[in-house]
Amino acid sequence: MIHRMRDVVVAANWKMHTTPAEAGDLARTIAARTRVAGVTRVICPPFVGLAAVRDALAGSDPDVGVGAQNVHHELQGAYTGEVSAPMLVGLATWVIVGHSERRRDAAETDELVGRKLGRALDAGLRPILCVGEQLGEREGGEQEAVVDRQLRGALRDLGPDVLRAGGLVIAYEPVWAIGTGRNASGRDAAIMAGAIRSILTGLGWDAGADDVPVLYGGSVTSANIAEFLAEPSIDGALVGGASLKPDEMAGIVARAGLTAAARSAAG
Ligand code: PEP
Repeated sequence: MIHRMRDVVVAANWKMHTTPAEAGDLARTIAARTRVAGVTRVICPPFVGLAAVRDALAGSDPDVGVGAQNVHHELQGAYTGEVSAPMLVGLATWVIVGHSERRRDAAETDELVGRKLGRALDAGLRPILCVGEQLGEREGGEQEAVVDRQLRGALRDLGPDVLRAGGLVIAYEPVWAIGTGRNASGRDAAIMAGAIRSILTGLGWDAGADDVPVLYGGSVTSANIAEFLAEPSIDGALVGGASLKPDEMAGIVARAGLTAAARSAAG
């Protein structure tokens, strides 16, 4: 069943690309090419590009959300090179937490990801929580157990009410699909979206689990986005490499607009 209340979201994760000047220009270009009714667009540049993107969009397309790619789990202190949630207020309204590249490169644990999530929510930042299995785990049929562990670990100190009020979005991102050009199938992504909502139900979310947008991420392009959005349980995409290309973003958001329109008509 299509849940008509769920947002259709396309979030761009620019990773460690773009100088501040490039980020502002690219954000303006992408915003202009993706004005599609019903789609929530979010651009996540590097920290140093947040102000430039915010300013570029404020003058052209304030409907596009600005997101950070990470946030620290403490509010302040001796954490050289880090950025806390209160520091992001005014620069961003969204934040990615638990991206697999941070789990890999910064050894982020599920417990740490949960603390980041709490800081984001306290600061009024809308979180995109990333979960997903490694290739070996998929080959061993462990993908649901991995995501179960990740969600239980990250959400254990946060109740459904606070997470729903904060607009939690979950991105299912199989690690083997990120940046590899080897995307999951739409069907596999849909099975995992269903598993994610079942896990939330088991955590006491009950019917509220149906309200949480679940995105797919992993080598999404304008050529394969339709496969994911054909699945009613998938509510959009977290896009890495392709999100740096305005033509790609135009195609992805245009397809997302069809889903948004269909949901609105069904509602
Ligand atoms: C990502 O960075 O979250 C991602 C999904 O990257 P890519 O689209 O390049 O696989």
